[in-house]
Amino acid sequence: MTRTHCPYCSLQCGMSLASGRGGRTLEVLAWPEFPVNEGALCRKGWTATGLRGHRERLTTPLLRDRATGELRTVSWDDALDHVAARLTTIQEQHGNDAVAVFGGGGLTNEKAYLLGKLARVALGTSRIDYNGRWCMSSAASAGNQAFGVDRGLPFPLADVEQTDVLVLVGSNLAETMPPAARHLDRLRERGGKVVVIDPRRTPTADRADLFLQPVPGTDLPLALGILHLLGAAGAVDEDYVATRTTGFDDVRRSVASWWPERVERVSGVEATELRTLADLLSSAEKVTVLTARGAEQHSEGTATVLAWINVALALGMCGKPSAGYGCLTGQGNGQGGREHGQKSDQLPGYRMIDDPAARDHVARVWGVEPASLPGKGLSAYELLDALGTEGGPRAMLVHASNIVVSAPNAVHVADRLAALDLLVVADVVMSETAAMADVVLPVTQWAEETGTMTNLEGRVILRQQAVAPPEGVRSDLDVIAGLAARLGSTAAFPTDPEEAFAELALASAGGRADYAGITYDRIREEHGVFWPCPDAEHPGTPRLFADSFATADGRARFVAVESVGAAEQPDDDYPVHLTTGRVLAQYQSGAQTRRIADLPDDGPFVELHPLLASRIGARDGEPVVVTTRRGELKAPCRVVTTIRPDTVFVPFHWVGANRLTHDALDPSSRMPAFKVCAAAVRS
Ligand code: SF4
Repeated sequence: MTRTHCPYCSLQCGMSLASGRGGRTLEVLAWPEFPVNEGALCRKGWTATGLRGHRERLTTPLLRDRATGELRTVSWDDALDHVAARLTTIQEQHGNDAVAVFGGGGLTNEKAYLLGKLARVALGTSRIDYNGRWCMSSAASAGNQAFGVDRGLPFPLADVEQTDVLVLVGSNLAETMPPAARHLDRLRERGGKVVVIDPRRTPTADRADLFLQPVPGTDLPLALGILHLLGAAGAVDEDYVATRTTGFDDVRRSVASWWPERVERVSGVEATELRTLADLLSSAEKVTVLTARGAEQHSEGTATVLAWINVALALGMCGKPSAGYGCLTGQGNGQGGREHGQKSDQLPGYRMIDDPAARDHVARVWGVEPASLPGKGLSAYELLDALGTEGGPRAMLVHASNIVVSAPNAVHVADRLAALDLLVVADVVMSETAAMADVVLPVTQWAEETGTMTNLEGRVILRQQAVAPPEGVRSDLDVIAGLAARLGSTAAFPTDPEEAFAELALASAGGRADYAGITYDRIREEHGVFWPCPDAEHPGTPRLFADSFATADGRARFVAVESVGAAEQPDDDYPVHLTTGRVLAQYQSGAQTRRIADLPDDGPFVELHPLLASRIGARDGEPVVVTTRRGELKAPCRVVTTIRPDTVFVPFHWVGANRLTHDALDPSSRMPAFKVCAAAVRS
């Protein structure tokens, strides 16, 4: 029996894997002692072994034959030799930044760390970023500005059971991470209230005491209006604001004109509902605000999160027990994936790449000169947008990311990928992105390897190998080390995950995400260890901000923000809002879950309200066509009363949704506007 964790979302539920018949069978069992999920799993977790032995599992490297255009089987040596030789030639001709690296929020900490080191040391390129940029980066940017540090939840998730009012902004956790919904049920059993803000009445909203259904992309004016009302009601915790924060006067002024009727006109949420929420918050002793992708994936996503943080700070909640602000990260290692150097502007330990002291520290651990480390690169979408252009990257290595399905404005992104001289994809199956590659490298998956992940609470957990990988498959760590050696790097690229973790811990020491005191043994014994954990004697830090924030003066920052609205508004040609999201049985781009036989693969579909359906003459189950300025999708419609009449919804687990989405970027986080754009729909 092997204790490990689910391969999918950021909850990283604990599970046991029982291997039988000499490793030929693998069964998922509950692990009730693991505190995050207490033995509960969603159907994705229970069926996670379904990809093992799948007929589409990649087990041999593939190289595209120039003459026929077909992928043909090659040996690992031939594949890695070819990739290294082509990368070297391209860099000699076009410079180091002509090679890009694209990582993923599903990679273990060890892989994310060594992928960043491969880019900066062995390739000397600044062009590295990852799909986590499209996950929680707006919340990360806001958290850094307000608190001086970004940890999704600065407290264990179970703390929300003890809060008095829980406000979920743009989160459908009952479907995206079902075991977490029990915290909502327990909170309500002890008399607490749940508030859900979402353009769709989701299964999470069905659990709410108060449900607000705004126009997509208006969570920011809602927060401004709430703070306006709290100020008018005298509900601001003036002592807390005076002693633990700075900047409130500017924020107070910035919300002065956001009276409820103005918010109603912009958001569609009635002024009376807004007042009900403000009253609820004013009278509660403990308030917790959690945002997720619905609030964050916007061209003003960072400002939206900052506005909700301002609400939590004004109420005096951040740092208080069972209260405060947090972000529910999405991908399995959405948190750790951004802490160890995959992000274009960061080095391991959550250090900023343009900080001379950070460069010195990391360069010392890596045994290189600080000046040899490249500077800040391009964010994920900007990187993809530059592929194959004059002066842009001409080759790209992709690990654990199905860009063709998950990038915004996906038709354009596929064109950019096709313009590359060399695309190398490491994956477990032939994803839509791997199918475009010149070289495909078959790598291990979850149960076949060991490595750490950091869940949405900042808890570092250990996935342990339960079975041997199929013959012919190698770990991403082997791929990285093999390429680094062929590129002539003399730096260490450990292939043993525990050794890689020890180096990562050294590199993180003294940084904002400090793992120096964490070891595999401690994680096994303690059910995970929360960072920061600077030394072996340190107990880890489940709760942040009790006494001070991670800013220079220890105070949180109020940041005044304004709302300019979504980057694309409905007009005569595109008269409705399009929003996207997840369904219970699928995960991210669906590359894994769409192949699992026991999970329904029933998308894509278009959800719309009966009023809209009647206007365009659509009937439930029949196809409709959604168009935006970027693309078109034809899919069956589902006519439901749970969505706003001015909005259509498409899940993003299949090819299609992101052919429609907008690539406008948030100015701070560089998050694309996945969650709202203007669309037309016809039957
Ligand atoms: Fe838990 Fe998420 Fe896995 Fe479901 S997908 S079992 S909620 S970790």
